Amino acid sequence: MMTRTRKITARLALGFALLTVAMVQHAYAADENSERQFVLANVEFALLHEIAHVLIWELKLPVFGREEDAADNIATIALMMTYQQTGAPMLDSLQAVADGWKLEWQLVADDEIEHAYWDLHTLEIQRYYNISCLVYGADPANRTQILEVTGLPTERAEFCQEEYNTAQQAMQWLFNQHSGTQKSSENSSRVHLVYDANPTLDGKKLDSWLRSSQIPERLAQMLDTRFDLPRDITISFARCKDPNASWDSNTSTITFCYSLMNRFLYLAREVASARATSVDGGSWNDAAYTGEPRR
Ligand SMILES: [Zn+2]
Repeated sequence: MMTRTRKITARLALGFALLTVAMVQHAYAADENSERQFVLANVEFALLHEIAHVLIWELKLPVFGREEDAADNIATIALMMTYQQTGAPMLDSLQAVADGWKLEWQLVADDEIEHAYWDLHTLEIQRYYNISCLVYGADPANRTQILEVTGLPTERAEFCQEEYNTAQQAMQWLFNQHSGTQKSSENSSRVHLVYDANPTLDGKKLDSWLRSSQIPERLAQMLDTRFDLPRDITISFARCKDPNASWDSNTSTITFCYSLMNRFLYLAREVASARATSVDGGSWNDAAYTGEPRR
């Protein structure tokens, strides 16, 4: 039978040895606040990406093109909407998500592992540029720093506003066509959160970040109240070997592996380390942008 499990990534080739060694190496450079922000932004994106698969499958949304790209676009637009509502540092968090993909691409290259050109997913470096393009396209007049930091060339950048508008309109269509009845989630909860124990290295810290963020609870409630889902959905935080997140329509379960959070923590430390030793680690954030050209 054809598998119906949709994962967020094909990054399985990257090993745990690398993960553990690097985590020890960079322990000295820990800046907990930025690490927490980086990890949680990536957790939220990954959850939203899987929730997008849920919506596509359960509501039978029309998808022309690759489902994985659609899921990334839904997650990026949803993340921008969420940050606008909560007042969270939007550009920093979206950059954390984009940077995560760029770093994954670089790590594959560093390990001399062949890139998964055949994969369901768009290549990591393309996911980086796609997210950058949507975020820039949402407000091109005020986000030129994103072009500078990412190196997104004019050939693509001139279409980013259109790409954003198309994705935004599709999102609006989704809400208009499939909006739930704003029911009380206590009465008819369709979305269930399950937390397994997290025994991983750094598991205690990651667990406290996850639980205090209330991100899973907020997203579960959003899914529950904004959409009329035809059946129950489980979001399960679980111990599994590979760092991944996936949607399995056979069991109607999103599985989020704790090891993916460890992976994000590792990436956070790598990004911090790269920025500390490089002059080209610019920020997307308006406030941090001086207008001075960066080398
Ligand atoms: Zn996916």
